[in-house]
Amino acid sequence: MSKADSIKAEGKTSSLSLLDRVRIEVKNFNQSYALFWKSRTSWAITVMMFCTILCIQATVAMMSYSAYQNSRVEALIKASRTAISSVGFENTDKNNFISNKAAQGLLSQSSIQGFNIHTTEYELVNQYGQKPRIMLHRGEDMPQRFVDNKGHSLDYVFSPNDLGHPYYITARLDTRSISQDMAQYGRDAAVIILLLSALLTTVLMTALGYWFLQPTVTLTRLLKKAIANPETPQFPAHLKQAKEQGRLGDAMSAAMTLIEQNAQHIKQVKSTAESEIKKLAYFDALTELPNRTMFIEKLREYTKDIPDDEHFVVVTVDLDHFRQVNESMGHSVGDVILQSVAKRLRQSLPKRAIVARIGEDDFAVMLPIIKGVNTPKDIAQRVIDAIRGQGFTVMEEDFRIHCSVGYAVYPEDGSDPSDVLKNADIALSRAKEDGRDMIRAYSRDFDMAVQARFHLLKDLRHALENEEFELHFQPQFDLRSQKIIGAEALIRWWKPDNSKQGGMYISPGEFIPIAESSGLIVPIGEWVFKEACMTVQKLQLSGLDDLRVAVNVSGVQFRQPNLVETLQHIIYETGLDPKNLEIEVTESTFMGDINNTIDILKRLHETGVELAIDDFGTGYSSLAYLRQFPIDRLKIDRSFIMNALNNSDDASITRTIIALGHALNLKVLAEGVETIDHQTFLLEEGCDEVQGFRYAKPLPKEAFIDFCQNYKGDLSVFDKA
Ligand code: C2E
Ligand code: MG
Ligand code: MG
Repeated sequence: MSKADSIKAEGKTSSLSLLDRVRIEVKNFNQSYALFWKSRTSWAITVMMFCTILCIQATVAMMSYSAYQNSRVEALIKASRTAISSVGFENTDKNNFISNKAAQGLLSQSSIQGFNIHTTEYELVNQYGQKPRIMLHRGEDMPQRFVDNKGHSLDYVFSPNDLGHPYYITARLDTRSISQDMAQYGRDAAVIILLLSALLTTVLMTALGYWFLQPTVTLTRLLKKAIANPETPQFPAHLKQAKEQGRLGDAMSAAMTLIEQNAQHIKQVKSTAESEIKKLAYFDALTELPNRTMFIEKLREYTKDIPDDEHFVVVTVDLDHFRQVNESMGHSVGDVILQSVAKRLRQSLPKRAIVARIGEDDFAVMLPIIKGVNTPKDIAQRVIDAIRGQGFTVMEEDFRIHCSVGYAVYPEDGSDPSDVLKNADIALSRAKEDGRDMIRAYSRDFDMAVQARFHLLKDLRHALENEEFELHFQPQFDLRSQKIIGAEALIRWWKPDNSKQGGMYISPGEFIPIAESSGLIVPIGEWVFKEACMTVQKLQLSGLDDLRVAVNVSGVQFRQPNLVETLQHIIYETGLDPKNLEIEVTESTFMGDINNTIDILKRLHETGVELAIDDFGTGYSSLAYLRQFPIDRLKIDRSFIMNALNNSDDASITRTIIALGHALNLKVLAEGVETIDHQTFLLEEGCDEVQGFRYAKPLPKEAFIDFCQNYKGDLSVFDKA
């Protein structure tokens, strides 16, 4: 750093010596000098200034040139007049006023190249040397002088008054030396003018540049730089002294202040926007907890310099059936519960725990594991206890919330934080699949199961496009009349493979849950309904008019807004009598918005189709609402029938369902009738209808039609099987 620089940097300009000040000034000047000549304006002003000075000087020079030329000509005339006057003229001889000798002397000793002598009556008397071009005439205006166009000679008329003799003399005067002198004069003047103009321009531009143009150029550059980089403008140190020096100092410091204010303003706006965006992008507005992105970010941060022997657990939580609370009680209640869950999680865990809301009703917790103090399971238990340990009171109503919990441990279950979270989520899904309200630790097997599910989902989409589904029909009988009353339509997926058989049947129990969770059940369900309707048509063509086909409809389909319209449309298109169709719904369908479910059931019933509750007794107890459901039939779940003969509980459940159904004026159908003992028991208990392997397994359409046509209305034929 030069001395000048260091002095500048310290900002002690006021205490500088004169020499230092001059040095700084020269340095600054040199810096801005280069800029100065880059400016077009500077060049334009320089050229204009030079031209103006040149013009002024040229005008002055022209004036002095002609004055000088005139003075030279007048001197020539005067000298010629003196020379002529000094010659003796004789008045006696009319034809010879001057002697030849005198005339020759005049021509040789003066600038006179020739002359004519005229009387006062303009009569030419004598002529010597070159002939002047002015001719004297009476009565005409005569020129007194005439200059030849080359500037070599001047013809001049000397009058008697000039000469003091009674003659006119027209003389040709030699002006060549004057012309030469004037040319030299012109050349010298041009050089001087040019030099002077350049000198004046330089001096003026230096002054103008120093006081005005350079600061203007610098100011312009400063503003341009500030426009290009408004956020962090940088001012050369010397500019800060501009004010002291008075070189557009006020404008400069006003501009700098404005630029600084602008930068400050931009920074402020940016940082406010940044923190706002960060808040929106990384935090959940409702609970003010970090969101999934922020949670992973925090885990990443944490793992950056984590000791090798440190482990932490990531626990993920899903509130069981929270959607139903939201739908039935309104979102404001749901929001209060979510806020309370967030608060409880925070309060029940140590400060170093990271708590986040990673989905609608999903939370995540991270806590380091300290040997001998806590285990992953303890932490997961603490989380589950915090939520279900106590009810949530909202608007004086008490809500019991249960939750499913999954956890994974770093680094055993994933070396990357997002993998640990993903695996905790997989464990959580397992907890939900296993019946909710429980804790599951991540295991590699779950991962494989998830992969398998992904493959299955892909194949399922393909199956729908390639028509790999079939409908099989399992006959249903009236126990008393022993007649076939209809069949339940059960989907089958024939999945082609490279085996000898060319493929295999995949059980609906395996793919329906996946179809449900992916939403694929909606188009599949539509296909089933259409296929069932077409089968009813076929049955009627085969003379089996009274048979009814029961179709399973999933809860997911029930949540579609246009379910009723879609089914109505299919019934209308196939021209069926709706009474030949039945819709089976499971009790889980009624969870959620119960009023909406009742409304859909009513609308379906109004179309004329029959309604049955499938797997009755296994699910969520809908007894309280049963009276309001417009249903025709209860289907006792096969698990009760299967054990009814050796388990008194199951037998009494079966009895109760039959009694309940009859009390509500409903038909009761028992599923899973496999033996004659099952049949006998059900008959004794007053069950109305049966379905099961004792009579037939689900059959392909053609086989089912054959079965119906061959059946003689006597259930005892199945005793032999
Ligand atoms: P579900 O509606 O309760 O159907 C009865 C299930 O019990 C059928 O299993 C049937 O084959 C089986 N079953 C019938 N009688 C007996 C018996 O005597 N013993 C034994 N062990 N089982 C018997 P499947 O066909 O495997 O269907 C399983 C479930 O998949 C069905 O239970 C139903 O919930 C669902 N499902 C089947 N087809 C469809 C469909 O088209 N749509 C929907 N949404 N679900 C379907
Ligand atoms: Mg069913
Ligand atoms: Mg069933």
